[in-house]
Amino acid sequence: MKMIFLGPPGAGKGTYASRLTPILETPHISTGNIVRDEIKAQTELGKTIREYSDKGELVPDEIIIKLLAKTLRKPDYERGFILDGFPRTIKQAEALDKISKIDLVINLNVPDEIIIKRLSNRLTCEKCGTIYNKLTLKPKKDNICDECGGQLYQREDDKPEVIQERLNVYKKKTEPLIEYYRKKDLLKNVHCNDLMTPPEVIVEKIKLMINSVKNTSRS
Ligand code: AMP
Repeated sequence: MKMIFLGPPGAGKGTYASRLTPILETPHISTGNIVRDEIKAQTELGKTIREYSDKGELVPDEIIIKLLAKTLRKPDYERGFILDGFPRTIKQAEALDKISKIDLVINLNVPDEIIIKRLSNRLTCEKCGTIYNKLTLKPKKDNICDECGGQLYQREDDKPEVIQERLNVYKKKTEPLIEYYRKKDLLKNVHCNDLMTPPEVIVEKIKLMINSVKNTSRS
C-alpha cells in the first residue's frame, strides 16, 4: 500500500507513521528526516537546505523532488510506503504522480491551538528521530530517548517564532493538496481535536481506514 500522510506540521504524521510501520510492515519515509540528515552530514546541499529549514520555509521543489525520487528508487519501497511530509506543494504532487501510483491519502485535521502547544513542547531524538512531547508523550528518563538512548533536543524550527511561519506556509502552499487528492478520490479525513488523545487512538482509526481501502481494492 502506497500512502501519504497529509496535515499541518505537528499534526502527528511522523508519530503515527512510525507506529504503523511495524504493524503494517510498510516503511516510513519522512522528507523532514531526509532534510535533517543532509544538514547533519554538512554536505553542500545540506548547507543550502538549512537556510530554508531553520526559518520554517520550504526547501525548493526541485531539490526536494530529486531527494525523494532518489529515495523511492530503492527496492525497499517497491511494495509500499508511508510518505510523511511529502508532497507539500502542487508541483511536488504532480512530480510524485509521475514517479508512483498512490493508493490512499490520510488527511490529519488538527486545530491550530493544538498544533502550537504540541510543537512548542516537542522533543526529538538527535540519533533516531523518535518524537516525544513534554506534556503528552514523555520519555521514561528526562531528555533521553527510550528507543536508542540518544539525547533529546528541541528542533530549531519548533521554536515559537518559527512555528507560526510554518503554519502560514502550510496554509498557503500545502493545504491546496487536500482538494487535489479529494478530486482524485484518494482522501480520507481523520480528526483530532484534543491534545491529550493518546496516539494509539488515532493509530487505530487510521488502521481501520487502511483496511477498508485494502478490502475495497480486493473486491
Ligand atoms: P518536517 O519534519 O516534515 O516538518 O520538515 C522539516 C523541514 O524540512 C520543513 O520545514 C522544510 O524546510 C523541509 N521539508 C521537508 N519536507 C519538505 C517538502 N516536501 N518540501 C519542502 N521542504 C520540505
